[in-house]
Amino acid sequence: MAIWNLGSINVDIVYAVPHILNAGETLSSTGRKVFLGGKGANMSVASARAGARVNHIGAVGHDGVWAADRLLEYGVDTRNIAVLDTDTAQAIIMVDPHGENAIVLHPGANIEIPQTVLQTAMAEAQTGDWIVLQNETNLQRTAANLGKKMGLKVAYAAAPFDADRVMAVLPYLDFLILNAVEAEQLHAATGQRPEDLPVRDVIVTLGADGADWYGPSEKQHFDAIPVDPVDTTGAGDTFTGYVLAGLDRGMVMEQAIGLATKASALMVTRHGTADVIPDLSEVTAFRP
Ligand code: ATP
Repeated sequence: MAIWNLGSINVDIVYAVPHILNAGETLSSTGRKVFLGGKGANMSVASARAGARVNHIGAVGHDGVWAADRLLEYGVDTRNIAVLDTDTAQAIIMVDPHGENAIVLHPGANIEIPQTVLQTAMAEAQTGDWIVLQNETNLQRTAANLGKKMGLKVAYAAAPFDADRVMAVLPYLDFLILNAVEAEQLHAATGQRPEDLPVRDVIVTLGADGADWYGPSEKQHFDAIPVDPVDTTGAGDTFTGYVLAGLDRGMVMEQAIGLATKASALMVTRHGTADVIPDLSEVTAFRP
């Protein structure tokens, strides 16, 4: 089957700074690096590296064609990434010597994805495929509704958290993934705990404490694999991409979560995001 990921594509520009800027201050950076980023792009790369057939649905500006090309290099089908007359989404990230960061996010093309791009992509989708959503793009509810009508399975990572958006897509979901903070935010906004939600499978990731799965008739905890983390950025996206790829390839949930737990543990031992997401052979060979 296949995964259709309506997802963000960001250009992450990371500046090393002596300290996080104060109001009115001008500061020289001590280094600058440019990466492919965005939760959507990270998840597409993770699922593709896990061996799934992944189609990314999204948009960049002319300045971000390289980012779409990078996804293609990582094995993602990029035919449904539109190039628009607008800016590619950009994250300007300041990182101080202690690893503290501050981020300005310009959503750009991510929130201008034309509906026709989604429709063209969905015309190729098959019953039983997955449609995957996060909160960094427009068109989530439209995609969830369309996907459900077509017999696709609908997966949603509720990040960055937004209660209204979660509520808007909830009726369509087969799979919901949240981190611990997002699960608390959902409870505060709606009074609902993961086990109360009308969604077949809900996963709450708990960082170094692993993950909880709330399935149709059971709850199961999965411990994380103990490692020495150097950078936890992208752990959640790697986990989600691997779980969905596992399910898409016919694994049962326990197997898919087991694989995702290994992939994300390996991921936190590496600096970086999309460019360093491990592939299936590395994950399989990983002996912590
Ligand atoms: P991020 O926003 O940083 O991408 P997240 O908050 O969405 O992450 P987490 O709950 O932090 O997601 O992590 C996802 C999964 O990654 C966890 O369920 C766990 O399996 C793995 N993981 C995260 N941190 C660690 C760690 N320190 N050691 C081992 N595994 C980890």
